[in-house]
Amino acid sequence: MTRTANQLQACRNALAANGFDAFIARDSAHASALFFEGILPQLKVRTLAWGDSMTMAATGVLDELSRHKGVQVIATFEPGIERKVLIERRRQALLTDLFLTGANAVTLDGKLVNLDMIGNRTAPLSFGPKKVVIFAGRNKIVPDIPAGMERVRTIAAPLNSRRHGMQTPCVRTGRCHDCSSPQRICNSWSLIEKCFPKGRIKIVLIDEDLGL
Ligand code: SF4
Repeated sequence: MTRTANQLQACRNALAANGFDAFIARDSAHASALFFEGILPQLKVRTLAWGDSMTMAATGVLDELSRHKGVQVIATFEPGIERKVLIERRRQALLTDLFLTGANAVTLDGKLVNLDMIGNRTAPLSFGPKKVVIFAGRNKIVPDIPAGMERVRTIAAPLNSRRHGMQTPCVRTGRCHDCSSPQRICNSWSLIEKCFPKGRIKIVLIDEDLGL
């Protein structure tokens, strides 16, 4: 469902009321500009990591950040690197100055809904990195937490399973079977109702359909 400008504004206001710093971007290029001109200069970032997000990738901020001198980027998804090394890097990512990622759902009453396989994306949302910046397209906005969880189960998880080449039943049928597969990507929920400390999590809502 396409969200209107009014709904984006309502979502932004609700996020702000819940202690998040929230912004609205016209498109992914504007989201990048907001990040580099409005958010990053306020932060003292020496170490940086990120969680898998097609929306964040669409903004191009990672490519730009990797060229920033003085910022150590912990590459937690580097191709060709042994998995146990990547897992160790994901542990180190919990202690960075800044963690970037997307969201599975953002509610109109200003809450965040995410589901993870390992927890490397959901854990740092709650605690660890000093600051978190989330990029979310308008298609991620849902009325409330139950609707967000439903969105994740019925839309995001089956599509993400396919994207990651998993051999789970949802890849074959396109719907969730609440499987017990060793490759199940749906293990660890994160529901964030209010941001603590206030302003630790910053959310850029983008007026485009982006990500899954
Ligand atoms: S629980 Fe299993 S079947 Fe359901 S979406 Fe997740 S991986 Fe797919």
